[in-house]
Amino acid sequence: MSTELLFREDAYLKSATARVVAVHERGIELDRTIFYPTGGGQAGDTGTLLRANGESIVIADTRKGEAVDQVLHLPAPGMPRPEPGEALTLAIDWPRRHALMRLHTALHVMSCVVVAPVTGGNISPDKARLDFDIDMGLLDAEKIERETNALIARAVETQTVWITDAELDARPELVKTMSVQPPRGAGRVRLLSIPGIDLQPCGGTHVANIAEIGGIRVLRVRSEGRRNKRVEIALTA
Ligand SMILES: [Zn+2]
Repeated sequence: MSTELLFREDAYLKSATARVVAVHERGIELDRTIFYPTGGGQAGDTGTLLRANGESIVIADTRKGEAVDQVLHLPAPGMPRPEPGEALTLAIDWPRRHALMRLHTALHVMSCVVVAPVTGGNISPDKARLDFDIDMGLLDAEKIERETNALIARAVETQTVWITDAELDARPELVKTMSVQPPRGAGRVRLLSIPGIDLQPCGGTHVANIAEIGGIRVLRVRSEGRRNKRVEIALTA
């Protein structure tokens, strides 16, 4: 059963109502959700599902199910289980998600400062990283930080763009991340555009204007293997 992904159209939804579709040992499925499931290196959302009787079900994590667009909301241990058909009010931990959105968008900007194939990445609420297939000698932390912050200062609005699978196949240079190929087969692929800076397939949540990132600092640069040179960043505020 697929879930309507409300965050895909509006990453700023902090609450919404939804109906329970299924409850099983792997989690709670809803007809629609604002909870982003772990994917593309971005951590899954946490938050609460509020029942009509006032009870709160704390959601400790959100994961993808096996079906396309299937989302599993994982309750914290000991939480009550809702009934199929029940109406709930959803609320995500917004400060946490907003930090993830800012860091995620910062990685898009940084991937245009370090020009090399991306071999991995991860975004948690307090820090984020990208791994590059690049010579260690070409990674200068101070320069990466300065140039990324200079691009952030341009305060460009981000845009979501959809293209067909065929259009993406015709423009392989759009795919920078070797480890995460964009999902195909649905007929269309979602791109994040930061006009003048970056354009690449991405299903994650992003800030509306890169100025919202504020600024980043490079925490460290280190080698994680021959094809993985890791750059780890945090927000400055
Ligand atoms: Zn993204």
